[in-house]
Order: sequence, then C-alpha cells, then structure tokens
Amino acid sequence: MESSKPHALLLPSPGVGHLVRHLELGNRLVAYHNFYVTLFVVFESHLSAGESQLIQSAKAQKLIDIVELPPVDISGKVEPDAQFFTKQAAITREIQPSLRSAISNLTLSPTALIIDLFATPALDVADEFHILKFVFYPSAWPLSLRLYLPILDKEIRGQYVDQKEPLKIPGCMSIQPEDAGSPMLDRTKHEYHVFLQRGSEMRMSDGILLNTWEDLDSMTLKALREDESFGSVPIYAVGPFVRPVEPSASRSNLLDWLDEQPSESVIYISFGSVGFLSAQQITELAFGLELSQQRFIWVLRPPSKKKNMPVKRHVLGDKGNDALDYLPDGFLTRTQGLGLVVTQWAPQVDILSHPSTGGFLSHCGWNSTLESILNGVPLLAWPLYAEQSMNAILLSEKLGVAVSPKVAPTRGVVGREEIEMLVRKVMGDQEEGKALRARVMELKVSGEKALIEGGSSFNAMSQFAKQCEIKLLRN
Ligand code: UDP
Repeated sequence: MESSKPHALLLPSPGVGHLVRHLELGNRLVAYHNFYVTLFVVFESHLSAGESQLIQSAKAQKLIDIVELPPVDISGKVEPDAQFFTKQAAITREIQPSLRSAISNLTLSPTALIIDLFATPALDVADEFHILKFVFYPSAWPLSLRLYLPILDKEIRGQYVDQKEPLKIPGCMSIQPEDAGSPMLDRTKHEYHVFLQRGSEMRMSDGILLNTWEDLDSMTLKALREDESFGSVPIYAVGPFVRPVEPSASRSNLLDWLDEQPSESVIYISFGSVGFLSAQQITELAFGLELSQQRFIWVLRPPSKKKNMPVKRHVLGDKGNDALDYLPDGFLTRTQGLGLVVTQWAPQVDILSHPSTGGFLSHCGWNSTLESILNGVPLLAWPLYAEQSMNAILLSEKLGVAVSPKVAPTRGVVGREEIEMLVRKVMGDQEEGKALRARVMELKVSGEKALIEGGSSFNAMSQFAKQCEIKLLRN
C-alpha cells in the first residue's frame, strides 16, 4: 500500500548500543517529523537482557513497528575466533534474505532504509527496492576516519603504527594509529580490509545521519561537508539522542540507595554493554576506589573467556563467571556503606540522571558519552576498544568534560594511586573538578537546544525528512 507519509526502515546491528540509538531516532521521526517507522531487530541466538528490555518498552510505547527477523546463524560462515568487524559483516550478509522477505511483506511501501555502521552491505537491499539508503553513525570524528580511510590507504605505505607522524584527517585532531581502533593496527589482516570496505560503502549512501550536534563537532562537521575527499555524501547532524528516563513499575534498589546519598557525591562506573576489565585491572580499580574514599556504583563484569569479544587483549579470567570473585579479599566489607557493586544490567540513564551522581567512569561508548553529557555529569574517560579512544580524547582534550589516565587503559594497566587521584579530581570541588562540571553543563544546554524546534539538529532532521518526502512524491 502506498503510504501518505515517508516510511523509514531501521536496521541496527545486534547489540544494545546500536539498538538504543536507532530506537530514539525512530521515536523522533514519528513524534516530530511525520514518519512511519519500522525497526528490524537482528540477533544471533538470543536477545540480551538489555536488548529485550529496550524492545519491550518500545513495543509498549507503540510509536514504531518492531519486526524481529529470524535469528542469524553465522557458525561455519566465519572463523570461530573471527574479529568483531568480520563477524558483524557476516551477520549482515546472512540476514539479507530474511530482510528482503520482511520488506516485501510490509503493508506500507517503504521510502528509506537506515542502517548502522556495520550493516553497510545491506545498502544493496535498499537498491533492490528502489528506496533511499542512509547510514546512522554515532559521532563525527570516527566517521571522518572511515570516510577518509581510502585516501590514507593510498597515501601511506607500510603499517600505520610504524609512521613517525600521527594520522592527519581534515577537520579533525591528529591521531595516533593506536587510538584509531583495532582494525588500524595491522593492515595485512582481513579485519582492516573489512573496515576499509565499510567506509567506501558508506560513501555510496544517500546520506549519513550522525548522533551529534553542530556545536559539539562544528569543525569536523564542516570538513565532512566541504572537503571533497570525504566523498561528498550529505551529512545530517541530528543528535544527541539518548534514551529518556522511563517510569518503571519496579524501581531499582540502586536508586533507593542513591536517594540516601549527598548531592553529586557518587561516581558511577560502567564499561557499556560488553566491555570488561582484566583481572589485574579490576584489582587496581577496587583499591583505587577504596583509597579515594568516594561513594560509587560499579557495574562489574568478569573478564571474558570468549575469544571473539571486542577486547581481545585482556587477560582471561581464571576464577570463573562470578564477577565478585575478582574483587580483592574483604573489598565488599571494607566499602560497605560507601559503594555498591552490581553484576546485573544497571538502569544507567536513571543513575546518571539522579542528583546524587556526580561523575562517570566510562568506557566512552558514544551512547554512554551522550547520556553523561546530557545529564551534566563529567567523566573519567576509560576507553577499551573500537572508536572509544577517539571519544575519550575528544572529551578530555577538546571538550574539557573528562579526565584521563596518563597512559591510556588500552595500552596498559592503570595503577591504584592514579585511579585514586583521577576519581578525586573528577568528583572534587577543586579548580579542575569545577571546570569540568561547568563545561559539561554548557554542553548539556547546547545539546538540548539543538533538539528543540529551530535548533540545528531539529533542522537537520527536517532536511532529511524533506529528502524522504521528495522521494515519496516521485514514487
Ligand atoms: N547500559 C545500561 N546498563 C548497563 C550497561 C549499559 O543501561 O548495565 C546502556 C547504556 O545506558 C547505553 C548502552 O547500554 O545506552 C551502551 O551503549 P554505549 O554506546 O555506551 O556502549 P556499547 O555497549 O555499545 O559499547
């Protein structure tokens, strides 16, 4: 059936981080820009607890249609220890037949397919259905690297990590190859070629939506639009989209505990939906927290035994799957009353928006980064993998809302004394702590302004909507 409004199809890759972003994009398209939205859920064997929660609440909201595609089986299609990008690429390849059939079965004709950064091979499916095709990317600097990589690939001989100079990308801070994500570490690996290919595929899209806003990333966004070396793809900075706090029937006891704590006195510690620390780093962090004597909530996961986790360099745990077993002896007793250790999924947005939370030790995944900024919470930047080092550098060196360890956590173990000092800095009322808080509040206000009617992101979404409406009229 022809639809009277543009109909956007969203295809996030598996994982909470991708799902969160696409759900919020879908909600805004429906609520403010007169769209129909269908979101396809992609997963391997089962949905994680976090994904299930998000899908349940999206279904209850009834703003967008949710279609679960059948589970994807990539066993036998990639090596069992294949790296992250290779695995994600295989998932997108395997999902295509069921995606095609799901699109064919839609009652309302689609106008555009919006995919995430890993799902670019699915752009071909959009062509088959003669619809527009867009990529929804988290942030501007990592996108610049991806779009510029075909040029670096031609210009630079040998390994990037052997270059004397940092990598230079128009409109961006210079970057050490080690901070540009694991695929950049070895150009002879399949992972690098997949990474390169994905960037080239993005250049073929009808536009790239970014979960950022003009004031946060103005120089980089300007270069992305004006410098032809990025491929002249239309760029729409439409964010920041973060999950709102939702009233829930069962309030977490973490929030009850936060209610009892003084204002801005608690540091929240979490490494996203899949990140984890080595056993040795857990010990150092525990002692560092104890030394700092700051209140905390720590979402703790055991070191993983899974080989294909994004964080391969970490020591694998030899004490089993109970995360608490990796804490130093007596830690929980000594910190009773001072902090809580959680081993389950935590209500992160609720925690960050609670007035007692004053800092966030974060792996700097882009969703976590935005959730922190939009709740006015300064960060202790602790990147682990993917584009997180770039996010951490942006937060501490350019935006001034984070402190970072001297030697990045991606390069070694951060010791307890340094952790103590950093936690005190981000939570303290000395000059530096005050400056961090003032700056993060400025960014919070600017992010909120971007989203309201007439704001830069609202306008960018309207332009994107216009592109879809023109397509609808032409069909
Ligand atoms: N998250 C959460 N509870 C947890 C861990 C993560 O609610 O215990 C949410 C978090 O709020 C964020 C998302 O999961 O929205 C993680 O996305 P991010 O981009 O920060 O990191 P990723 O998991 O993709 O590395």
